[in-house]
Amino acid sequence: MSPLLQLHAVEKGFGGSPVLKGINLALRGDSYISLLGPSGSGKTTLLRVIAGFDEPDRGDVILDGKRIDDVPTYQRNIGFVFQNFALFPHLSVARNIGFGLENRAIGAMPAAERRDRVAAMIELVGLTGLEERGIAQISGGQRQRVALARTLVTEPKLVLLDEPLGALDANLRTRMRDELRAIRERLGVTFLHVTGSETEALAMGDTVIVLANGRIAQADAPDTVYSQPASAEIARFLNCYN
Ligand code: ADP
Repeated sequence: MSPLLQLHAVEKGFGGSPVLKGINLALRGDSYISLLGPSGSGKTTLLRVIAGFDEPDRGDVILDGKRIDDVPTYQRNIGFVFQNFALFPHLSVARNIGFGLENRAIGAMPAAERRDRVAAMIELVGLTGLEERGIAQISGGQRQRVALARTLVTEPKLVLLDEPLGALDANLRTRMRDELRAIRERLGVTFLHVTGSETEALAMGDTVIVLANGRIAQADAPDTVYSQPASAEIARFLNCYN
C-alpha cells in the first residue's frame, strides 16, 4: 500500500534560521502517529507545513500521491485540531461542528445530510444532549470533543492534532487518550498527534516519531523508542538514560 503522506527533504526556516532541516517521512493510512520533541524543536512548524498553512522553503509534501500545492485546500483531506480548540464562542455546539460543512466549497450538501453528519459526530464524540449549549457553558473536555468533531465531520483522511490534550487537566488528559485512540480506530483515519510529553507519545502512537534539532532522530514502535533510543539525546529526553 502506498503511503498516505510523504515528505521529501522538507526544509523550512524563519528569517534565515533553519527550523526543519531536511525531513523525510512516510506515514501509512489507518494509523496513530505520535510526533514527539522538546519545545522549539519544530513540531508545530512541521504540522503547519503538512497542513499547507505554510509553504516549505524546499522539498515536497505529498498526500495520497499528489503534491499538496496542486490540490485546492478544500480537497486536501487534511483536518487540523488546534491546541486552544479555536471554537466560535457565539455559536452552539452543533453549529460549531457543522461550520466546517457550511463553509466548504464541496457543492451544495443538502441540509438533511449535513444534520445527519453532525448528529453522527455528536454521538461519536459523546456530546449527545449538549447540541444547543454555547461554548461558554461546556467544560474543557467537552470543548476538546467539539474541536475534534468539527474536524472529523469533514471526513479527512489525515488529522493533525497540535498538543490536543495540552489545555486539559491531568485526569481528563488520561481519559481523553483512550477516547482519541478509540475514535481514530472506529473511523480508520490517520492521526498525527504532536506532543512534548514522552509518556503521552509512547502511550498513544502505534509509531513514535522523534524530532530533534530540525531532523527526525527516530521513527519506531513505542517500545523500541523506549528500550532502544536512537541517541543519548533521545534517551535523556525519555528519562531512561543511565
Ligand atoms: P515546537 O512546536 O516544537 O515547540 P515550533 O515549530 O513552534 O516548535 O518552533 C520552532 C522554532 O521556530 C522556534 O525557534 C520558533 O521560535 C520558530 N518559529 C516558529 N514559527 C515562527 C514564525 N512564524 N516566525 C518566526 N519564527 C518562528
